[in-house]
Amino acid sequence: MRWVFVGASTIASQYMLGAVRAQDGGEVAWVVSGSAAHGAAWAAEHGVPNVTTDLAEALADDRCEAVYVSSTNEKHLPQAMAAIKAGKHVLCEKPLAMRIAEAAGMVQAAEEAGVTFATNHHLRCSGSHRAMRALIAEGKIGKVLSVRLFHAVHLPPHLQGWRINDAAAGGGVIPDITVHDADVVRFLLGEDPKRVVAQMAASGMGEGVEDSAMSVWTMPSGAMVMSHESFTHPFAGSGLEVHGTEGSIFASGVMTQEPVGEVELVTAAGRAPVEVSRHNLYEQGVSDFYSAVAGTGRAAADGPDGVKSLAVAMAVRDAAKLGQAVDVDYGEIS
Ligand code: NDP
Repeated sequence: MRWVFVGASTIASQYMLGAVRAQDGGEVAWVVSGSAAHGAAWAAEHGVPNVTTDLAEALADDRCEAVYVSSTNEKHLPQAMAAIKAGKHVLCEKPLAMRIAEAAGMVQAAEEAGVTFATNHHLRCSGSHRAMRALIAEGKIGKVLSVRLFHAVHLPPHLQGWRINDAAAGGGVIPDITVHDADVVRFLLGEDPKRVVAQMAASGMGEGVEDSAMSVWTMPSGAMVMSHESFTHPFAGSGLEVHGTEGSIFASGVMTQEPVGEVELVTAAGRAPVEVSRHNLYEQGVSDFYSAVAGTGRAAADGPDGVKSLAVAMAVRDAAKLGQAVDVDYGEIS
């Protein structure tokens, strides 16, 4: 499959180019950038043969079936919509859009056009997350009572741009990381948060946007979730705990882009390490996207997943702004 990459971004160069090229026949034919100079330099450095500032020019290339959108967040909507309209399958970065209704509109447009539309929530592709999900589904920890999610990291200097100072581009830790955590919880528990309370803060990096958030979510089953995201914590490390009536899962270092971290299961029988696959998360995501296009499987996170996980993140921000509990509004998406 030949791809158009929209956005000469860090995630595209660090992970997604390699993930596409790892697939049988996977090729990135175009990169589209808002800056001719940056796009040309990016294309030359990464061996992408065609570069343009005109999205329509790349979309007119009939040899390309798929588009990956990884521009800044406010551009996802118009760029993905143009790609869908051109009949391309689209893998879009999270957050899908700045507003829930816009993201839902992308899903609807893709349905009407008969193309695959998916969200690049990479953590669903991790061997550790898939192993945890299987343990929960098999009943190994009984009824889930609570989840504690630790995702406070230190944003590296090369990413300390729009994320920390540009609200109009979709900056802030909530659209950046809380949206991933929402997706992880939805993936692990197989249910969608219904109500949240939250606080957010600027703790050293954020200028006009939050760089830290803490929230508590109520699930339809009654399980409680607490979630912590930040850009300003150099030594916190990441982790995830799922506690049930018959056992607990402790995962450390797993909220990351790499196939690393440890998972342990604790039950009345004692504490035991859990074997997890160490495959590349992004290659898995592209492979699952191919299955969705071929009709042989589902995307790791499909369009509705992207909308719902955005809805949870937006509810967290609303709850923090209002200082009161907020019901998650999933709109028309079921
Ligand atoms: P970057 O800041 O690296 O890139 C975003 C945009 O900034 C690019 O598309 C490009 O614009 C512009 N840009 C970047 N570098 C330069 C430069 N040197 N000169 C001029 N313009 C430049 O963002 P990320 O790669 O970190 O994030 C991009 C998207 O991917 C976001 O939506 C983010 O949420 C998502 N993301 C997802 C991850 C995941 O694991 N699923 C991980 C990281 C990010 P142009 O489009 O004009 O080329």
